[in-house]
Amino acid sequence: MPFSHTKIVGPAGRYGARYGMGLRRKITMIEVRQRGRHRCPSCRELVRLERPAFGIWKCPKCGFTFAGGAWAPQTVLGKTFAPEELKQIELEKMRWKERVKALRAAGT
Ligand SMILES: [Zn+2]
Repeated sequence: MPFSHTKIVGPAGRYGARYGMGLRRKITMIEVRQRGRHRCPSCRELVRLERPAFGIWKCPKCGFTFAGGAWAPQTVLGKTFAPEELKQIELEKMRWKERVKALRAAGT
């Protein structure tokens, strides 16, 4: 391996000696995660997602665009909230089905 000036700091090497080691380490961690491969929620393909804007992610394979974290497609908070929201939607669906059933029973 040839000598590298950015072997330790990675992508944060572009900041040179500025901003301190702690901040540059953080940036490296964030950027490595951001540029890595992630699973597309639509086609389940493991791809390098595009990020056209803050918190908006686009799959280059199927063109699916979705909201995510500002720096990573999925965040810890997002993962915590998603199942609850899905549960809520499922509950609404169940209620709707029951209402339709009751209406049908009343009609006949
Ligand atoms: Zn996709």
